[in-house]
Amino acid sequence: MARRPYPVIALEEHYWDRELVSHLSGAEGSRSKPLLDRLYDLGDLRLREMDEAGVDVQVLSHGAPSGQKLAADVGPALIRGVNDRLAQAIALNPSRFAGFAALPTAAPEAAADELERCVRELGFKGAMVHGLTNGEFLDLPKYWPIFARAEALDVPIYFHPSFPHPDVTAAYYKDYMDDFPMVIRAAWGYTVETATQAIRLVLSGVFEQHPNLKIVIGHMGETLPYLLWRINQALSRPGHRPLDFAATFRKHFWITTSGNFSTPALECAIKEIGLDRIMFSIDWPFVANGPGVEWLDGLALPEAEKAALASGNAKALLKM
Ligand code: ZN
Repeated sequence: MARRPYPVIALEEHYWDRELVSHLSGAEGSRSKPLLDRLYDLGDLRLREMDEAGVDVQVLSHGAPSGQKLAADVGPALIRGVNDRLAQAIALNPSRFAGFAALPTAAPEAAADELERCVRELGFKGAMVHGLTNGEFLDLPKYWPIFARAEALDVPIYFHPSFPHPDVTAAYYKDYMDDFPMVIRAAWGYTVETATQAIRLVLSGVFEQHPNLKIVIGHMGETLPYLLWRINQALSRPGHRPLDFAATFRKHFWITTSGNFSTPALECAIKEIGLDRIMFSIDWPFVANGPGVEWLDGLALPEAEKAALASGNAKALLKM
């Protein structure tokens, strides 16, 4: 390892827990065997592909839809087991892996307690949630106990995409899904869903109530750095509750490069939110490690800025 003067930490790197997946009907669906092999591997295969590309550390998270599709009565106990098993896997390779907790968000108080248990007892770095919780966005006040606990623990919540609401899928995408199955996923549907969730968080007032709450979104910020000026300007027009959208976004959000290795997009994000808010990630195994690390290596940035992007910013946010 250590091919560079700085380590490479990637923090949107997924795995699947067999017991949790058995509760998510159709999750394996049309997934290929090589993809499933990688999702279920927390050892040799994963480490080999990290070594080949030069990824020093993966912050592991369960892949979508994780705990967000579980009912309130089954989620908490099941997710406890998921997080315990992840902690055991991390303990086998503690210099290579760290973890984000899965949360049973349908039971918000239990989810907050599980976050605290994972951070205090298992050493996790925060939590990752995936899309809607049984059809609802998480900015609804009933979910705020999760954000209160994250703020108290000083750990971030990573908002990861999942499928759009079924009504949205039917109205917006259905006629193109057969020919272009990715249109509701990484090509567009995921992005709209997650950017909407991020915007709703700002509109909800949760950051006024929790001024030290920290949020991470992937995929170079789900288009929001590029759109920040326009969203901010439109929400500043007469007739709106006073809100500085851009300032709130810049204060509370970090982004990662997961699955979006576009240099012009990175340059836009640096200019809009600052390099110290951007963290390298890949989105393994949905995206291969090699092209991500090669892109990072080839960026025309000063060495100190590349080091911050590769791991320095993640170390600061996650206290690694
Ligand atoms: Zn991902």
